[in-house]
Amino acid sequence: LSKDLESLRDLPCETLDGHRMPLWVNTGLQADITRSLEQGAEGVGLYRTEVPFLLRERFPSEEEQRQIYRNQLEAFAPRPVTMRTLDIGGDKALPYFPIEEDNPFLGWRGIRVTLDHPEIFLAQVRAMLKANAGLGNLRIMLPMICSISELDEALELIHRSHREILQEGIDTELPMIGVMVEVPSAVYQARALARRVDFLSVGSNDLTQYLLAVDRNNARVADLYHSMHPAVLSALEMVANAARAEGKKVGICGELAGDPEGAVLLLAMGYDILSMNATSLPKVKQALRSVNMAESQALLQEVLAMEDAGAIHARLESFLADHG
Ligand code: PEP
Ligand code: MG
Repeated sequence: LSKDLESLRDLPCETLDGHRMPLWVNTGLQADITRSLEQGAEGVGLYRTEVPFLLRERFPSEEEQRQIYRNQLEAFAPRPVTMRTLDIGGDKALPYFPIEEDNPFLGWRGIRVTLDHPEIFLAQVRAMLKANAGLGNLRIMLPMICSISELDEALELIHRSHREILQEGIDTELPMIGVMVEVPSAVYQARALARRVDFLSVGSNDLTQYLLAVDRNNARVADLYHSMHPAVLSALEMVANAARAEGKKVGICGELAGDPEGAVLLLAMGYDILSMNATSLPKVKQALRSVNMAESQALLQEVLAMEDAGAIHARLESFLADHG
């Protein structure tokens, strides 16, 4: 089987009836670059910028960040690289920037931290924009957006950084900007969010956690954490429809995208990009190459009418077993 998966690398990710699905990767560590290129990744849907921050003893300077980002952009050019602005807090604390709270996942994390510390945000965005000069494959993505005002504030800071960089004589275009949909409020406001940006990307790891009120890292409730819970699937469909209604692209960069069962449903919902760990890419490609769009859409309708995550999983398992 692993030989089969290897020979898949140079084949396109398309369904039996020719529907293309771009498979992108999630990166963070240096080693992810090689792994991703080996698997034939078409782009980076999530570069977790907090990873290089976590590996240091202090905040990297703007120039250090520029070099780190340049390395990432160059490695994948001309393929697009989606850089998420710093997503610390929750379960990710920087040793040199401790955050202590009773409910960290409901506390000071992601965009909340960087909007309270615009100097951190501005340095990061300036470093990204400078790194993109002469390349043009950068996309910027904002984590944990819960309301329109947060997005507007972040957009203003990005525009300000861009004006500054131009004034400094560096010729660089404003990149595509997107929002992560990973909290329930963003699902309900997906159209208004989509209107303001170039793309949406669902963070199904956090979205599952927040929709089901199940800590994604708590082993005691792990059997309640279902990314194929009917409520999660319904939210995923709402986001795809909202993006489509606004004529914007929608991707997903949570673990569900790297699960062949999830991938078939996301294909049917009309997701434009699936972004996953490099190691998941071959099995997702193999699954999508074994189905066609019409039957996947029929399966989606069937599954959306089901009421139990376990039953949904069983249905998908048997569907894929009939195809593989
Ligand atoms: C997510 O929440 O699904 C996501 C992709 O981001 P992270 O796992 O880094 O929170
Ligand atoms: Mg997340």
